Amino acid sequence: MIVTFPHAGQAWVPLSTLFAKAGVECVVAPPFSKQTLSLGVKHSPEWVCLPFKLNLGNFIEAMDMGADTLAYVSGAGLCRLGYYAKVSEEILRDAGYQFEMVTFDWQEKGAFGLAEVLRKLLPNRSWPQIVGDIRFGLSQLAAMDDLERETHRLRPREVKPGEVSRIWRSAGERVAKAWTYKELKRVKAEIMDEYNQVPLDPDAQPLRLGLLGEFFTVIEPFCNMDLEDMLGRMGVEVKRHAFFGNWAKTWLFLETLGLSHDQQVKKAAAPYLSRDVSGDAIQTLGETILHQKEGYDGIIHLLPLTCMPEIIAQSIMPTVTRDYEIPVLSVVLDEQMGRAGLVTRVEAFVDLMQRRRALKHRAS
Ligand code: SF4
Repeated sequence: MIVTFPHAGQAWVPLSTLFAKAGVECVVAPPFSKQTLSLGVKHSPEWVCLPFKLNLGNFIEAMDMGADTLAYVSGAGLCRLGYYAKVSEEILRDAGYQFEMVTFDWQEKGAFGLAEVLRKLLPNRSWPQIVGDIRFGLSQLAAMDDLERETHRLRPREVKPGEVSRIWRSAGERVAKAWTYKELKRVKAEIMDEYNQVPLDPDAQPLRLGLLGEFFTVIEPFCNMDLEDMLGRMGVEVKRHAFFGNWAKTWLFLETLGLSHDQQVKKAAAPYLSRDVSGDAIQTLGETILHQKEGYDGIIHLLPLTCMPEIIAQSIMPTVTRDYEIPVLSVVLDEQMGRAGLVTRVEAFVDLMQRRRALKHRAS
């Protein structure tokens, strides 16, 4: 058995540690690239959303590297995510690949489902060891979340653009090699120390922007063309709601225990969207309102082409922006999207936010 999983966001960090510690052979699929996308596009239905295509392409890359057991999410959500696993499996079998697919229904079973899947993939680990592995994996994800949040604060303030991103790019490998709490603490402190040595402009007054929308496109830099780095270089501090560690804590534990989360967000969105339409639509609308109340300068709303929940959010957004007077740039992402076009749109949006801020200062 040689296990693999999509290289999405930071999930690969705890998963690679987990399999290495248990002595189970594992192929860490390569980070998403143009090759991943072109493989995914070649084998996917044209209309399916971008995350599906990237994950499919990534499975092909991993199987070409020797993987034969694919770990994937499944579920009965309202959007396509519910049938990602089944459709991917059929496409890959039709393409001639031989493998076993092991799925994890996070919406129905939460942490219990994860433990069940790990028991299957790690036959030599006892239940107490698996519980310990899950706890440690959550700590790794929390460390990665903290390190990434720090990049958002530092990027628009650094004197020499690119230094913070360079350190951040090394973080995943380093955290994945930390196998104990003590090592994890040391690695995190070392990376924070490197951040602290990056020279900052003491007079910087970055614009503040909320990066919202569909989870995968927000957290995955290949999907959004490294938008956070782009914004940081333009002097914009990003705040985002979506983080893998946060997601895992919420969906594997809080929701499983019936402890509903994000009450404030749901309350803010309720006058515009009162029922769950799957995905992150409620978060997109609720966070837009909360960001406006916190004085943010603007919002970028990311959505994959044909993403049903975010199309619903996008169609409601004009009413929200009218009521709350906050500029929102919606960016639809698919395989046809070019970086130059995105840079032009983001530059124009940053210019608009700067002018609004200057006007506000003059008026006050
Ligand atoms: S939320 Fe959107 S992009 Fe994600 S699986 Fe559902 S339809 Fe696809």
